[in-house]
This record gives sequence, C-alpha cells and structure tokens, in this order.
Amino acid sequence: MQDKPYFCPNCRSNRVKFSVISSFSQRFLKDALSGSVQEVTEPQQIQETEPMIQCLVCSFTGNEMRFIKQAEREPRMMTPTDPSYM
Ligand SMILES: [Zn+2]
Repeated sequence: MQDKPYFCPNCRSNRVKFSVISSFSQRFLKDALSGSVQEVTEPQQIQETEPMIQCLVCSFTGNEMRFIKQAEREPRMMTPTDPSYM
C-alpha cells in the first residue's frame, strides 16, 4: 500500500476508513475417491502489485490507484469545519 491520501471515488465522503482486500492461497490434498479434504497447509498471502481497497462508508471496492487519483483530484481543504475531517 502506498503512503498517500485516499478519497473514495464513489461516495466522495470518506478519506479515513478503509479496508484492504487481500487474496490467500491455501493448498490442500483431496481423497480421489471420497472427495474429502485430507491435508490443509497454512494460508499464504498472495503479493499483489496493487491492492484492492474497500471504502468502509459505502462498501465500494476498487484498485488503490482509483482512491489515490480521486484524492489528488480533490485534495482535502485545510479547514477544521470540513465534514470529512475526522
Ligand atoms: Zn465510499
């Protein structure tokens, strides 16, 4: 994840509360006849070049770059009365 401001391009009211969505890979062995799972390894996180970010206000999910670009287009004004300031 990049150390840059985010701004949700969907609800355009959230710059603070996000969740990062990551993928995991977990290997397992199956019994060829019964189909039951025999052996499960520890989940391994898949390293992604660009993480998926979810806005915790409107649940919109998109590439990190969309949130960064929106923040660059609409930088937060330095006013204490800004409703998006939390
Ligand atoms: Zn949002």
